[in-house]
Amino acid sequence: MSLLSVSGITKSFGGVTANKGISIEVGEGELVGIIGPNGAGKSTLFECISGFYTPDAGEVKLDGKRITGLAPDVVCRAGIARTFQKLRPFQGMTVLENVMVGALTRTKDVKHAREVAREWLSRVGLDEKVDTFARTLSTGQRKRLELARALATEPRVLLLDEVTGGVDQRTIPGLVQLVRDLHGRGVTLLVIEHNMRVITAVAQRIVALYLGEVIADGAPQEVARDRRVVEAYLGQAYVQ
Ligand code: ADP
Ligand code: MG
Repeated sequence: MSLLSVSGITKSFGGVTANKGISIEVGEGELVGIIGPNGAGKSTLFECISGFYTPDAGEVKLDGKRITGLAPDVVCRAGIARTFQKLRPFQGMTVLENVMVGALTRTKDVKHAREVAREWLSRVGLDEKVDTFARTLSTGQRKRLELARALATEPRVLLLDEVTGGVDQRTIPGLVQLVRDLHGRGVTLLVIEHNMRVITAVAQRIVALYLGEVIADGAPQEVARDRRVVEAYLGQAYVQ
């Protein structure tokens, strides 16, 4: 049985159907990449899985239990954490406090939450920033902060939305290694990634979206060569 089962997810905004009957099965411990040109519906799918949007149709199940339509904090406590493509740290809180918010979903003990937060901040390389305000961080640092906050909730399934996008090139190998380590620890990952080289190197399977639909789902090398996938990316290159 799949750990995460997405079936027939449909979500429209006015005249735009961002997700059109998307179905994806993710097994426990899998690392699945999600690719697709801008506007393909990748972030919307994450919003529907994590409870930030209620889909118009379809359902999401975690470990066989329906979670569709539950509030984000309930979905998070059920075991699904996510990062945002558009960063949303609590600006007026310190870096440490931001991550403690994540840890406090699992413990009421503030001291313990602080220890957990420090540990994750160290794992993502933000030790020196613990006491600074989140608003002073660079884009790359904010991405790592979001990752630490998501990890502090002890997710079974982690949804990463373009963690390497817009960050300093030098930090990419460290982030990729962190994703590999998490996978090695048994975290199930669904990773939206723009950098094809990064995603084909880390993912066990890739799902390609185009205009709100799944156009390919399989081994990274096969999906990268798939005719519809290549055309979808070429189309974008011509349009831009
Ligand atoms: P991706 O993450 O693959 O780039 P998105 O899921 O962000 O794609 O967007 C898919 C489509 O849905 C786009 O056409 C986008 O403009 C539209 N869309 C996404 N979110 C909203 C929203 N909150 N309101 C209106 N349109 C939206
Ligand atoms: Mg997106």
